[in-house]
Amino acid sequence: MKEIVLVKYGEMVLKGLNKKSFEDMLTKNIKRRLKSLGRFKVTSAQSTTYITPLDEDIDLDDVTNRVGKIFGISALCRACVCEKDFSDITAKSLEYLNEVLNNAKTFKVNAKRSDKAFCMKSPEICAELGGILLGKFPHLTVDVKNPEITVTVEIRDTNAYVHAENLKGAGGLPVGTSGKAMLLLSGGIDSPVAGYMMAKRGVHISAIHYVSPPYTSDRALMKVEQLCEKLTDYCGGIAFFCVPFTEIQEAIKDNCPEEFFTVIMRRIMMEIAQRICEKEKCQALITGESVGQVASQTMSAIACTDAVCRIPVFRPLVGMDKTEIIEIARKIDTFETSVLPYEDCCTVFTPRHPKVKPVLADIEKAQNSFDFEPLIQKAVENTTLKTFNYSE
Ligand code: ATP
Ligand code: MG
Repeated sequence: MKEIVLVKYGEMVLKGLNKKSFEDMLTKNIKRRLKSLGRFKVTSAQSTTYITPLDEDIDLDDVTNRVGKIFGISALCRACVCEKDFSDITAKSLEYLNEVLNNAKTFKVNAKRSDKAFCMKSPEICAELGGILLGKFPHLTVDVKNPEITVTVEIRDTNAYVHAENLKGAGGLPVGTSGKAMLLLSGGIDSPVAGYMMAKRGVHISAIHYVSPPYTSDRALMKVEQLCEKLTDYCGGIAFFCVPFTEIQEAIKDNCPEEFFTVIMRRIMMEIAQRICEKEKCQALITGESVGQVASQTMSAIACTDAVCRIPVFRPLVGMDKTEIIEIARKIDTFETSVLPYEDCCTVFTPRHPKVKPVLADIEKAQNSFDFEPLIQKAVENTTLKTFNYSE
C-alpha cells in the first residue's frame, strides 16, 4: 500500500494572483525540512501539497512531526493512495484503516470530490463505503455529529486518497513570503517567542545578540545559540550575528547618568542592529518587549528607543501577559533553555532606579555628552556571523 502525506494550505488559499509564489515557497520549505530524512517528491495542486516518499525506509511520523512545524499549513495527514475506482477505494480503506476502526466506537465517512467526472457523487460514496465498513466492523456505529473517527475519501486529479487523521498545522504564512527582519535575541523567555510569532507571519528571521565578556560568559552565549537552533524548526535557517558590546556598556556606565543606562543601551543596540540590517537587507527589527513588563518597556521608554529607529520595529508580544508568553515558549520548546540562569548583558549594569518615564530630550542630551560613534563602528566591524540550520 502506498502512503503519502497530504498538506492543506492555511491563509494562503485566500491569496489571489500571487498564490503561486506562496505555494512555491511552501514547497521549497518542505523540501529543505525533509531533506535529511530521505528522498521525496513534493507537488502542489488544488490548494494541497502532496509529499510522496521515494525511499522505502522513511518513517512518515518523522515527516508529519517536521511538517507540522512549517508555517503556511492549516492541516496535514497521512493518507493511503488508491486508484480512482470505488472497489479499490473500498479494499484499501479496509486494510489501511483496519486498526483505527477496530479501536473506535463511532465513525462517519466524509467524501470530497474535486474531480467531478468521477462516477459516484459524494453522498453516494459516503453511504456505500459507510455501509461496507459497518458490515466489516459490526461494533461500530455511525455518528455524524461527533464521530471518534472521520474516514475521509478525496477524489482528486490522478488518484483517490483515504485517511482518518487530521493533524493541526502550524498556521501562518510560509517563511520567506513576508520579507526579512532582524530579531534582537536575548537569552530570555520573550525574544525567542517574538521570533517565532513573526516567522509565523511569513517573515524570514535573522538574529542579533549582544555579549559583554567578561561580564557575560561563554555559557550565556551558548544558551542563546541553542535557542537559535531550536527556533530553526519553525523559522528555517537563521543567520546569527554576535556583537561585542562590552566597551559600549562600560562607556555608558562611565559617561551617562545611571538612571538612563538601560534606555541608552537599548538605543545603541537598535542603532547597531539597523546597520547590520542595511548590510543584510533586513527591512525591520523585532524585539520581545511587552508594554509595562519592566522599566525599559514603559511607553515613554519605548518612545525614546524608537526615536533612533529608521525602520519599523515589530513587537509581537506587546499586549501579551507573561503567562501567555510562557505558554508559547513551552509549546515551541524554548522555555527550558531560556530559564537557564546565565547572565545577559542587560542585567550586568542594571540601574538601581531606572527612569520609568524618561524624556527624549534628556536622554539625547545624556547620550550626546559622549561620542559613541567610534565604539559603535568598532562593534559593527567586529560582529561575527554564524549560521544555524534545521536541527535534526
Ligand atoms: P527577553 O525575555 O526576551 O530577554 P526581557 O523581558 O528580559 O526580554 P529586556 O531584557 O528588557 O526584556 O529586553 C527586551 C528586549 O531587548 C528583548 O526581548 C530582546 O529583544 C532585546 N534584548 C535584550 N537583551 C539582549 C541581548 N543581549 N541581545 C540581543 N537582544 C537583546
Ligand atoms: Mg532579558
